[in-house]
Amino acid sequence: MSQVLQHDVLIIGSGAAGLSLALQLGDHCSVAVLSKSTLDDGSTRWAQGGIAAVLDTEDSVESHVQDTLVAGADLCEEEAVRFTVQNSKKSIDWLIRQGVPFTPNDETNSDQPYHLTREGGHSHRRIIHAADATGRAVSDTLIAQALRKPGIDIYTRRMAVDLITRRKLDAEGHGCVGAYVLNCDTEHVDVFKARFVILATGGASKVYLYTSNPDGASGDGIAMAWRAGCRVANMEFNQFHPTCLYHPQAKSFLITEALRGEGAHLLLPDGQRFMHHFDERKELAPRDVVARAIDHEMKRLGSDCVYLDISHKPAAFIKNHFPTVYERCLEYGIDITKDPIPVVPAAHYTCGGIVVDTKGHTDTPNLYAIGEASFTGLHGANRMASNSLLECLVYAESAAKDILSKLHCVPEPPYVPHWDESQVTDSDEDVVIAHNWDELRRFMWDYVGIVRTNKRLQRAKHRIDMLNNEISEYYSNYKISGDLIELRNLSVVADLIIRSALMRKESRGLHYTLDYPNPSTEPRNTVLTPDQW
Ligand SMILES: Cc1cc2nc3c(=O)[nH]c(=O)nc-3n(C[C@H](O)[C@H](O)[C@H](O)COP(=O)(O)OP(=O)(O)OC[C@H]3O[C@@H](n4cnc5c(N)ncnc54)[C@H](O)[C@@H]3O)c2cc1C
Repeated sequence: MSQVLQHDVLIIGSGAAGLSLALQLGDHCSVAVLSKSTLDDGSTRWAQGGIAAVLDTEDSVESHVQDTLVAGADLCEEEAVRFTVQNSKKSIDWLIRQGVPFTPNDETNSDQPYHLTREGGHSHRRIIHAADATGRAVSDTLIAQALRKPGIDIYTRRMAVDLITRRKLDAEGHGCVGAYVLNCDTEHVDVFKARFVILATGGASKVYLYTSNPDGASGDGIAMAWRAGCRVANMEFNQFHPTCLYHPQAKSFLITEALRGEGAHLLLPDGQRFMHHFDERKELAPRDVVARAIDHEMKRLGSDCVYLDISHKPAAFIKNHFPTVYERCLEYGIDITKDPIPVVPAAHYTCGGIVVDTKGHTDTPNLYAIGEASFTGLHGANRMASNSLLECLVYAESAAKDILSKLHCVPEPPYVPHWDESQVTDSDEDVVIAHNWDELRRFMWDYVGIVRTNKRLQRAKHRIDMLNNEISEYYSNYKISGDLIELRNLSVVADLIIRSALMRKESRGLHYTLDYPNPSTEPRNTVLTPDQW
């Protein structure tokens, strides 16, 4: 039997964004937090490098702002960048108070208590980290705190299907009043009513065949917001990490850039180096240049992967510097002190998303979006390393403040009918879902990946139109399942990416097309508005 539950605030997502928000609201109102499987199932847990913030006395807000603007290739919204960077120290102080065990500074003469590292694009040491597993430390700490707060109700194995708006209910006024949510254990769809709903659902990199992201990164929040009438922006900018382990059993394992930093060579299947054909910095060229070169060679040769080889360095050096990569590759029979590592580029980060302001407001009243699901304008055409966790924290805090200031002004949600399953039957053809899922991710990889052309994008558009029709029909006729919900959302997100890429008649940042290889003189965001609104 399906249930109706009511809270003041419904937060869909339990990553850095969702849990930070929940912890700042939990003492003041009733909060529900949903996650698709476990509480740490999002990308947050997998973040390695750290979080960018202005913490060193030698560093400055201006410098972090300028670095971000440069990385974003003239497409960042300066207001969002300044807002994020100005609040960076406050957010890190908050995380430290929650108990995140950041790596201490071992320099005795320094007044900076935590070790700060440096990453691509940053002109200062400003990345605070917990060894090489920052995301795990953040995730574990926030989960432990959330489980202790009586005001926060946690619901795992719950998959939001669609948002409930007053407009859809034909009720008076505007705004979001909750969500229909599949309980993956009972297989019933429950009603979660709330005065405020927050999408903290993470990115959409699962739309591509190869990705560094966990399975749930299917863009559910972006698709739900789109269906609820919200604008979505800059979906063509998907960041690809150049080197993800290519192995049938190894899902989503990144081979750190530090390997190339320490002299690893990229090789074609015949053992030849190739990066010198693309950039004089060879393997040390920026991420997007390396990813494009690998993609080019794989397409040219029709090969499944290229290789990353560090075996010319002494074995002791390799084991000492890269213990995690060494151990992990050995599990798959690859001894990196002797063998080259098979690698492919992988979709890593969704720079676009649901359009929000600095408080996380979407276009729908009482609906907020924070974290990777949102488009704040911070990243522009290319995300600078370690700015994304920072964005989760800063926007969680500003959304929390805004919600608390309005808590007593927003009325109780109206009556919401139960999910209607009277017209659907159990599917006897689940193969349709599996097939469409594979097909979508493969053509997105082949036609809408790292290097694009008009012809490839048109091909992809044709295919996504057909798939969307098939999936909509299937969705109308059969009982929903987790896989069907994700496939439906992936198909919406794929369509948004293709349409955005077709609209951008230039190459900028992460969007590279052979038909328009240069940047235009007038940088513009690609903003899509749902037709029916
Ligand atoms: C391998 C890797 C390394 C990275 N390294 C760094 C780094 O060093 N520094 C940095 O700043 N960033 C890094 N990033 C990016 C960063 O980790 C993410 O951008 C960030 O963690 C996103 O947090 P989030 O809270 O928005 O979403 P996530 O952490 O992805 O959480 C999403 C949550 O939403 C839930 N959810 C989604 N859809 C639904 C639904 N329909 N119903 C219910 N729940 C739903 C999921 O279950 C999950 O709990 C890295 C990412 C990866 C994958």
